[in-house]
Amino acid sequence: MRAAVTRGQGLMELVDVGEPGTPGPGQVLVAPEAVGLCGSDFHYFLGDIGTIEDGSALYPRIQGHEAAGTVVEVGADCPGLATGMRVALWPVSSCGHCYACRIGRGNACSSISLIGVHADGALQEQLLVPAAQAFPVGDQDPALAALIEPVSIAMRAAVRGTVAEGEHVVVLGAGPIGQALALVATDRGASVLLVDTVASRLARGAPLGADVLEVSAGESFVAAAREWAGPDGPEVVFEATGVPALVQTSVELVAQAGRVVVVGLSSAPAPIRVGDLPFKEIDLLGTSCCASGEFAQAVELVGRRRDVAAGLVTHEFTLEQAPEAIAYAIEHPAEVMKAVVRVDAP
Ligand SMILES: [Zn+2]
Ligand SMILES: [Zn+2]
Repeated sequence: MRAAVTRGQGLMELVDVGEPGTPGPGQVLVAPEAVGLCGSDFHYFLGDIGTIEDGSALYPRIQGHEAAGTVVEVGADCPGLATGMRVALWPVSSCGHCYACRIGRGNACSSISLIGVHADGALQEQLLVPAAQAFPVGDQDPALAALIEPVSIAMRAAVRGTVAEGEHVVVLGAGPIGQALALVATDRGASVLLVDTVASRLARGAPLGADVLEVSAGESFVAAAREWAGPDGPEVVFEATGVPALVQTSVELVAQAGRVVVVGLSSAPAPIRVGDLPFKEIDLLGTSCCASGEFAQAVELVGRRRDVAAGLVTHEFTLEQAPEAIAYAIEHPAEVMKAVVRVDAP
């Protein structure tokens, strides 16, 4: 069968690989149909992933963690799953006994394994996954079902930021995760302001019910975004660009006693005016993947708002085109919102 293998920094190749075999107990064999490419894929592909400094340790790897597919075969002990079902993959598997796992936060497990990052992902014709990581999505279109994973990231981030009805939420970065954050926060009844430098990305905010603010790179928008939120400033700020300096901007922007949630990835350090943390008594939070229940909520939300979610898929490629797809998406950020590899396409 065919697989897109990332062999080294910036190098992905289509090759023949062995089939994964039949599923054991608690496993299902899934044929991926649609795989979204995301900013974290670009980081991985380019060898710049969060806190991992030695890029060469990452390869070879079959990427693809935003996946929907069809169940081809079901092992023993897989309640609720049957051959032919369409599923979305929750990429997270955790150790179960580290501190994070013990307190019920396996999504932040110290030995987390993510499909498509630490284990081979969905840019191949078949893969075995634990049944607990396959969520039935009914007759959802595969490309839309592949959006469930990025929406689940936003679902978790909103839980971290305890976004509540009537609150003002500023989202820095109107890429797919920023859009997903706007979707989740408006769904919770919050008012949302999306901030970006790219007008075409902001234009997608209106169907989500978000206000938008277009800024120039390097221009301060703290005053404008605070004014949007009213006298107190925004209760919640999501940093979804991965631009290190914008962490300090978020700290300045957020209301006294508010919450800043850092979602964007970068391996670069960022200076923060430390005194702002105690002076404003803000919560500066990280967020990682999501819990199983949050993934289920993302399945429900994408199903209920499928018209809105559909607007985020801008490009489709075949599996054979996966190397072009990732290069194209990296080179055309203003044009590509979400590129999806249709593994099911001829
Ligand atoms: Zn992703
Ligand atoms: Zn753990």
